[in-house]
Amino acid sequence: MRQIDHFIVGDSPAPTRKHQVWNPSTGEVQAEVGLGDAALLEQAIATAQKVQPEWAATNPQKRARVMFKFKELIEANMQSLAELLSSEHGKVIDDAKGDVQRGLEVIEYACGIPQVLKGEYTQGAGPGIDVYSMRQPLGIGAGITPFNFPAMIPMWMFGMAIAAGNAFILKPSERDPSVPVRLAELFVEAGAPEGLLQVVHGDKEMVDAILDHPAISAVSFVGSSDIAHYVYKRGVAAGKRVQAMGGAKNHGIVMPDADLDQVVNDLAGAAFGSAGERCMALPVVVPVGEDTAERLKEKLIPAIHGLKIGVSSDPDAHYGPVVTPEHKARVEGWIDTAEKEGAEIVIDGRGFTLQGHEDGFFVGPTLIDHVTPKMDSYQEEIFGPVLQIVRANDFEDAVRLPSDHQYGNGVAIFTRNGHAAREFASRVNVGMVGINVPIPVPVSYHSFGGWKRSGFGDIDQYGTEGLKFWTKLKKVTQRWPDGGGDRSNAFVIPTMG
Ligand code: NAD
Repeated sequence: MRQIDHFIVGDSPAPTRKHQVWNPSTGEVQAEVGLGDAALLEQAIATAQKVQPEWAATNPQKRARVMFKFKELIEANMQSLAELLSSEHGKVIDDAKGDVQRGLEVIEYACGIPQVLKGEYTQGAGPGIDVYSMRQPLGIGAGITPFNFPAMIPMWMFGMAIAAGNAFILKPSERDPSVPVRLAELFVEAGAPEGLLQVVHGDKEMVDAILDHPAISAVSFVGSSDIAHYVYKRGVAAGKRVQAMGGAKNHGIVMPDADLDQVVNDLAGAAFGSAGERCMALPVVVPVGEDTAERLKEKLIPAIHGLKIGVSSDPDAHYGPVVTPEHKARVEGWIDTAEKEGAEIVIDGRGFTLQGHEDGFFVGPTLIDHVTPKMDSYQEEIFGPVLQIVRANDFEDAVRLPSDHQYGNGVAIFTRNGHAAREFASRVNVGMVGINVPIPVPVSYHSFGGWKRSGFGDIDQYGTEGLKFWTKLKKVTQRWPDGGGDRSNAFVIPTMG
């Protein structure tokens, strides 16, 4: 059995607990990962404390060169990274390349760290007084990441944190931990000092150790909302800076004037791609008006029947299996719930098996109509290849649905009406909006983050927000007296009046 080890400096003690890593396409256990504890974290922190000061003192251009080299190495290893990722996660290879690529784009942004780290300067803010600011690293940062983007999300975090001068400890998902380890190996190959980026595997025990450790200044978390909220509260209580991104239930609003062929094409990819295991998937479609709903449904049904489900290495498959047998049962359980709640199961993906791969964790594409806001299956995240139709009476209804939902990660509107789109984008209570763009994940030089129960804490991932998260701002006010002496009243708060 393949063993997946921590990536730390020095020997790691033999694990007392292990977690099985599946191959979701075959339903077999393909590896085991040892789960670490507080003692292992202590070892990683001791190393990080040794290497971080020198890294922070390395000029930003040299730090950027490591990022450049890392980018080259990832590009050179793209195929093998994608295959490894796909074999543990279950997403198809091209989609796995997208996972790596979207993380790589944050590394590209981090290559510009000398430019973005430049501070602000005001000459002559007062008589003989200058004010300037500089962004300094926090020290040691940690990232706790979900299974669904095992390359992209770690790179969102450590790319920014390390370029800014921090050491980083990553605790990836125990369900697909191999790619994060491979990334850390490539980072050392790129010239990073050993111990700057370490990977510790584990579950709640390791997460709690991270949240409680006083040497870790900031924690970035991405995962489900209840755990995000828990991580946020516990980390903040321990005096850390915490950003914690949670679950999602993104709506796609379809206005009567939308190009329905385009909508169906976009929806098929956004609802079923990666078996729906994306926090920016579009699992809810909201046609505005009964006529739009009927026309859309008529086009959606054949498109969904045309989807090809396959093993993750099948180049013709639109999507592969879900990640674990428990997750397959959970997704199918939500379809049962929707049925019991009175929704119409138009296309039923329960009990789907792939010929020759009967033990794989496949769920067929599912379309559910006449879903209403009162249903639990609407309120909760399903995170599978399931598309729900919620019919809206009018535009106001369509703005209200995603705005009132507990999650507020992403939303999209499909329309040809610029005014409606503009109104929607400005009024909807959701963090990321797409206008005729089904998956509006902002590019790496903007920032990513949802609202409400999709994001706890107030600073987003990557881009300038990410830079803010991983640095602290020092403000310097300086005066160089000319020798004449300033005899103003030192007992009154200085003003620039
Ligand atoms: P998860 O919450 O189960 O796990 C996330 C991380 O938390 C993992 O590293 C896991 O080991 C750890 N963890 C699990 N249980 C824990 C516990 N009881 N205490 C402390 N830590 C614990 O999430 P997942 O299933 O891996 O990922 C899917 C979820 O992540 C979905 O809800 C999805 O919407 C969300 N997600 C959100 C975003 C976003 O940016 N908002 C992005 C990707 C995924």
